[in-house]
Amino acid sequence: MLLDNLPFTKITTLPLEDMGHKNKGVQVHILRLDLTHEIISGNKWFKLMYNIKQALEDDHHTLLTFGGAYSNHISAVAEACKQAGLNSIGVIRGEPTEPLNPTLMQALECGMELHYIPRSEYRERKNESFIEGLHHRFGDFYHVPEGGSNALGVTGAKEIASLIDRDYDYICCACGTGGTLAGIISAGPPCREIIGFPVL
Ligand SMILES: *Cc1c(COP(=O)(O)O)cnc(C)c1O
Repeated sequence: MLLDNLPFTKITTLPLEDMGHKNKGVQVHILRLDLTHEIISGNKWFKLMYNIKQALEDDHHTLLTFGGAYSNHISAVAEACKQAGLNSIGVIRGEPTEPLNPTLMQALECGMELHYIPRSEYRERKNESFIEGLHHRFGDFYHVPEGGSNALGVTGAKEIASLIDRDYDYICCACGTGGTLAGIISAGPPCREIIGFPVL
């Protein structure tokens, strides 16, 4: 199962090759979260693990989530659900394009049902009445918000901090929905500052 085979031993911090910081008196390390899994890569694994567990405990058969056409979260959910024996529905922002890009192709191959909605409708994704409408359409499902950044997602992301094996001055994190950063901050790792870089 998803939760049992996390390759924790492989995930360590490694010094980065020179990225212009050589001879400047700084050291830069990277936490190789990408080594979790080929598709359920990095922070996505952490944000999904407790959600998948909860969906199974609550006897849901289907998980529904949201994302853009190039969302790593969408492909991660598709693969994680396949592994966990759950059906998956991806509500995708915008129009379908042919041929499918590699992200959506991979999701489809995992058995995810892709459901495209216009951008105007996608903006409603956090409204309860909109989710209610999706229940009318698709029946029962466990809802994971965009990016997997709900409370259980942040709880999972908190565990990322335990893999940071030394005290750094700065911890830097790329931010989309901000769930990963929230998790790391809530763990309170020893460092002077935690800096988030919005990448959207
Ligand atoms: C998804 C993703 C992010 C953003 O994570 P959030 O928790 O949504 O902020 C950052 N970096 C990479 C490589 C990602 O795949």
